[in-house]
Amino acid sequence: MNKGTKIMPNKVDAAKMGIVFNIQKFSVHDGPGIRTLVFLKGCPLRCQWCSNPESNLGHPEVLYNSSKCIGKEECDYCTKVCQTGAITESAGKIAINRDLCTNCTDCAAVCPAKALEVCGLLMTVDEVLNTVEEDSIFYSRSGGGITLSGGEPLMQADFAAGLLQEARRRGMDTAIETTGFSDWSNIKKVFEYVDTVYFDIKCMDSAKHKQGTGVANEKILENFKRICTEFPMKPIVVRTPVIPDFNDTKEDIESIVNFLKSIPRPIEYELLEYHRFGESKYTALGRIYPLGTAGLDHQKFLELDQIAKS
Ligand code: SF4
Ligand code: SF4
Repeated sequence: MNKGTKIMPNKVDAAKMGIVFNIQKFSVHDGPGIRTLVFLKGCPLRCQWCSNPESNLGHPEVLYNSSKCIGKEECDYCTKVCQTGAITESAGKIAINRDLCTNCTDCAAVCPAKALEVCGLLMTVDEVLNTVEEDSIFYSRSGGGITLSGGEPLMQADFAAGLLQEARRRGMDTAIETTGFSDWSNIKKVFEYVDTVYFDIKCMDSAKHKQGTGVANEKILENFKRICTEFPMKPIVVRTPVIPDFNDTKEDIESIVNFLKSIPRPIEYELLEYHRFGESKYTALGRIYPLGTAGLDHQKFLELDQIAKS
């Protein structure tokens, strides 16, 4: 991303400005037609399989890609500018001590090789939507629009509501992808401007849910039932990412199917196949990928998918 305001002022109008970490164009999986996905930073969950770990924290962070680093001997701009001593030499390149790093982002500003980059920019509603609108011709032809994702977009509820309200005013279709883990007041505020909801239900067993995501699932399921009641006409697509050794059994998927069948309204349900696309981002954040080398057999996924479609 190269647009947006990089300096965080002390006071921001939360309905007009928020922290965005990516804007991804031409998606065809996250709402009707061709979409632009806007990823908001910050998430209350810590899913072990998270493919966007750079979304976890609600503030800008520095990502480091060692393969781009010119080498400390030739360059060293970052060490000189870092006020906290967080950057040290490592095998001719650099390493960041994340305990000392304050995410001031000064090092990324001087890195000539873009080995250090800032993830998360403070952007206004207009800055985001002007970028999204660059593809408006595709929306009108395909019935597409904007989809808020994250992280958890409800962590920035005022900004999310401001974005979607203005998107609708500009004639765009709106959608949101949510973990459902939020206070009801945030859901109410944002959903007023949402055309389609993508809601994750990861596991019906609360203890297991907590183990895999860091939070129990009661609040999520309560919110889901309340959304179904208070927004009866709003299309909802429930999604389950199928994760090895977490929710990849017949019983896991059946219990979600049974829960959805107990709700008296139409609900679409789909499974998402596990992938390891986010793995390199953990390295860039100086973290270890939590799922190790675990993998999911494609045939097993197809069998579970049949249960989801039953
Ligand atoms: S972002 Fe962290 S490593 Fe970079 S200059 Fe600031 S404190 Fe140092
Ligand atoms: S400023 Fe960038 S290229 Fe130079 S040593 Fe630091 S990380 Fe490497």
